[in-house]
Amino acid sequence: MTLPKDIRTSLDVEELPKKWYNLAADLPGRLKPPLNPKTMEPVRPDELSSLFCDKIIKQEMSTERFINIPGEVRDNLVHLCRPSVLQRAYRLEKHLKTPAKIYFKREDMSPLGSHKGNTAIAQAYYNAEAGIHTLTTETGAGQWGTALAASCNLFDIKATVFMVRGSYDHKPTRKIVTELYGGTIYPSPSVHTEYGRKYLKEHPDSIGSLGIAITEACELAMKDPGTCYALGSVLNHVMLHQTVIGLELKEQMKKAEIEPDVMIGCVGGGSNFAGFSFPMIAEKIKGNTECEFLAVESKAAPSITGGEYRYDLGDTGGFTPMLMMHTVGHDYVPPSVHAGGLRYHGMSPLVSAAVEQGYVNAVAYDQLETFEAGETFAKTEGIIPAPESNHAIKAAIDEAIRCRQTGEEKSIIFCLSGHGMLDLNGYSEYLDGSMKSSS
Ligand SMILES: *Cc1c(COP(=O)(O)O)cnc(C)c1O
Repeated sequence: MTLPKDIRTSLDVEELPKKWYNLAADLPGRLKPPLNPKTMEPVRPDELSSLFCDKIIKQEMSTERFINIPGEVRDNLVHLCRPSVLQRAYRLEKHLKTPAKIYFKREDMSPLGSHKGNTAIAQAYYNAEAGIHTLTTETGAGQWGTALAASCNLFDIKATVFMVRGSYDHKPTRKIVTELYGGTIYPSPSVHTEYGRKYLKEHPDSIGSLGIAITEACELAMKDPGTCYALGSVLNHVMLHQTVIGLELKEQMKKAEIEPDVMIGCVGGGSNFAGFSFPMIAEKIKGNTECEFLAVESKAAPSITGGEYRYDLGDTGGFTPMLMMHTVGHDYVPPSVHAGGLRYHGMSPLVSAAVEQGYVNAVAYDQLETFEAGETFAKTEGIIPAPESNHAIKAAIDEAIRCRQTGEEKSIIFCLSGHGMLDLNGYSEYLDGSMKSSS
């Protein structure tokens, strides 16, 4: 058997991007600004300063096309195995008997287990530089909490993580990993904030939600000037930091002479999808590619396919600005599915705008069918994907099966946002038949 030349496309360390790409510079029409929920006026930068340091606020509001990646951030990204490999899923193609070519960008290779380190490093760097001593945050599945704890440790600041209780109880290994990196982790709703105590009084058995955990993390940040808040998805600066994925991918596709027909990513708040696709969406806006972009959500929190495009709060308690986004409503508490990273009520305003302008399509799947796709991927490619990533894999498999029926030799590329080695509980329920439908 001769392997195809494009089985694996790597870049050298020096080829790691030197600048992030900002889609806000190229999306036609102005982005709708975040609003202060009390006045419904656009938020001024100084109103965000109790939550974020100045450089992060500047990036959040920037419409500059390219923004320099600080040297120290680049050095640390190299330690997270960047540039990450682009691989062809040759055995999956054979198994599906499809004429399509399937490629995947390997964010699972990071020692932090997912793409989350790409922004965690940058956020820890800027906050440490600004003299902040603690970052607070929320985490759903746990990937973001562990990534932020590891990154804060590298820059000598503290991390306090509120983990959605449903996930916290399911995934005891996340606590170990967070604490090993020096972070503090609480199940949310918790007794450590006023909001958490109030919520627990009314809902003592709450499994929590990302919206509640964000409220708790913001409360601590607002109370102490030396503490800032870090968000692992949704906001523009997070999408920006993740574009190293798509910028690398563009170089890799050039090297391997791949012309993508469909690019697929799972979406919780939208960050791995954004990072993976925005540099190519820029080409689509310029008319340089016919590639289609598909965002895949969980039926447990279908903000694009089942929600509305409107202003909504980013959290449950009302500490965050109102964002113009696809949302199922900020007080929606999604069912406890294993793809915890996809249990967010809203969607990145940049991804939402790209959907509204017709550059991105969306689809939602039930967790059972996505775990089935993950099992197929594990058996053919040998990699156990994160439950979130299974959504992208399911969509890629469906597209490849359509190609089998039509005979089209499409190039399908998906983002493998993370591995599932710390999510084996989900696979265990899948295998023993106790997994519930998510819709
Ligand atoms: C957090 C996470 C997601 C969902 O978040 P996005 O911001 O939409 O990328 C997807 N996959 C993995 C592995 C995650 O950890």
